[in-house]
This record gives sequence, C-alpha cells and structure tokens, in this order.
Amino acid sequence: MLIALVGIGKIAVDQHVPAIAGSADWELAATVSRHGTVDGVEAFTDFGKMLDARPDIRVVSLCLPPVPRYDYAAQAIRAGRHVMLEKPPGATLSECHALLDLARAHRVSLYATWHSRQADKVPAAKAWLADKTLRKLTVTWKEDVRHWHPGQDWVFDPGGLGIFDPGINALSIVTEILPDPIHLTEAQLHFPANRDTPIAATCRFHHPGGAEVSAELDWLEPGTPVWNIEAVTDEGTLLLENGGGKMTVDGQVQDAMPGLAGEYPRLYAQMADLVAQGGIDMDLAPMRHVADAFTLGQRVVAPAFEW
Ligand code: NAP
Repeated sequence: MLIALVGIGKIAVDQHVPAIAGSADWELAATVSRHGTVDGVEAFTDFGKMLDARPDIRVVSLCLPPVPRYDYAAQAIRAGRHVMLEKPPGATLSECHALLDLARAHRVSLYATWHSRQADKVPAAKAWLADKTLRKLTVTWKEDVRHWHPGQDWVFDPGGLGIFDPGINALSIVTEILPDPIHLTEAQLHFPANRDTPIAATCRFHHPGGAEVSAELDWLEPGTPVWNIEAVTDEGTLLLENGGGKMTVDGQVQDAMPGLAGEYPRLYAQMADLVAQGGIDMDLAPMRHVADAFTLGQRVVAPAFEW
C-alpha cells in the first residue's frame, strides 16, 4: 500500500522511515514537510497539494507534534484518507473525539498509535497480571529532555505536554497491562518558571482493588534513562524495565516473545490490518489520565529551564 509521511522530523527519520522501508505492506510514496525530505521520495511542502496530486495514496501517517496534528488529520479524513496518528493522538481529548466522529462519518480507518504498547514484553506482562491481585504499582519514568528532545521548544509550549510527552508512554503501558481501570486522584506538576508545561510530575491513582498506584516522572534525569514499571502482587513482583523491553518476575528474566521485532514495525503491521478491515483503533485512556493530571494537578513552581 502507498503511504505518505507528514512531518519529517526526529521520530519520522528515527523510526517511521525505517519501519516502512522494512515492511512488505507499505511503500513510502510521498513526504510532506516544510524542511525535511527522504531521499528518493516525492516531497511536498503543502499537505493539500499532496492530497490533490496523489489520489492514489490512500493512507497518511502524521508525525507532527500534537498541536498542529488535528488540522492535518481532519483534512486527510475529509479527503477520504486513512490516518495513522503519532502519540499523543491530539492536543486535547475533544480534538480526538472530533477526529473519531469524522473518521466514522467518512468511513476511513483511524489509528491512535501508542508505540510503547508494542514494546517486547508488554503482552507478557499483561498476561502475567491478568489473574493476580495487585497490591502496588509504581511507574518511574525519568530521562534527560536535553538528550531526547534537543531544542524542541514545542514540548514546553501549551499542548506540548511537557514531561507527559514521555510520561504518556508509561501510561499507555499501564492502561494496557492492568486488568482493572484506574483513575487519577492527585498530582503535583512542576512547571519551570519560564515554561507552560511541567518538567516533572508525581501522580496517584485510585485502583478498584485498593492497590497503591503512583507515577514519578522527571525530565532532568542525567545519563541512562529509567523507564520502569513495578507491579507488586499477591503472587510476586513483576518489573518491566527499558520501557517494556525487559521483564522480570521476582528477579527472574522472562524470555523474549516470538514474532515481529520492534515497536514501529508492529505499529505499521497493525495499521495495515486496520485498513484491510476498515477498522478504527482510537483508545484514549492514556490521554485521559494526562488530561486529568492537568485538571486536578497542583502547580509547583520549578527553576527556569533553558536548553
Ligand atoms: P519534531 O522533530 O520536533 O517535529 C516533527 C516535524 O513536524 C518537524 O520536523 C516539522 O517538520 C513538523 N512540524 C513541527 N511543528 C509544526 C507545525 N507547527 N506545523 C506543521 N508542521 C510542524 O518532533 P518529533 O520528536 O519527531 O515528535 C513528533 C511526534 O512524535 C510527537 O507527538 C512526539 O510525542 C512523538 N514521538 C517522538 C519521539 C522522539 O523520540 N522524539 C518518540 C516517539 C514519539 P517541517 O518543519 O519540515 O514541516
């Protein structure tokens, strides 16, 4: 299937281009970006012109930051194209619901991707937790924003989510592996004095079984990132490390799952299935928790941040 990539920036180059190139399902037929291009691929700077010029391209994958994404997605859906969205699927929940309604009305596929859910050990963690009684779940998600988002000011602009840009990845895993629904009850959001989004956050959640569920998120962690989720249950402790890439139960390493390797190759395989079936996958649970944190969170002023 022919596909167009929109927003040729960090994640498009790091992950989307290689995942498409390595897939038998997809052929990268066009890019749309004001500055970026991909060698050997027809390049457009205007999205509307690409949609008009290439009616043969039925699928577009949007790799833009969240704030500009809605207008592109809505334009693509109105033009009858199937749409794949980078995470988070929009800047607000209302935008995401609007896209969902639009996709249904135009009978096109819409996929809100959550790449961290495709990490190797997420299905095994979900299966292991399914029949256990949870006592405590702790998310520790700490990395260096200067390393992972060098100079990307949009992460600190309204709608850029700040620390929840990576933190939503942890929440996408938690909402996938926990058999019970949780909801946020308390948050502290640390906003640098000169920025519009938090650089660190702590969150607590209600769990229907009374388990203690919390998340500690920090964007000023130097060196090796910590992307861990620990679940203490009545039958042992599960630890997901490396953003879901490694799993231990009571210290015993669990073997790799067979099948397609890599988060983005799996996302593109799922998009191919969705388009083939005419399906929509728009799970907004991770986004809901982030919206709740901004609604309920206490603002703490942190030192000003410069790159
Ligand atoms: P980025 O490199 O800063 O931006 C991607 C591209 O979007 C830019 O190169 C730019 O292309 C285009 N763009 C930026 N602002 C725009 C605007 N206002 N209007 C139109 N186009 C605009 O961002 P990224 O790191 O790739 O992240 C993009 C998305 O992927 C985010 O939602 C992020 O959460 C997600 N993601 C990122 C990573 C990562 O490691 N960075 C990992 C997983 C997911 P042109 O200037 O050429 O138009």
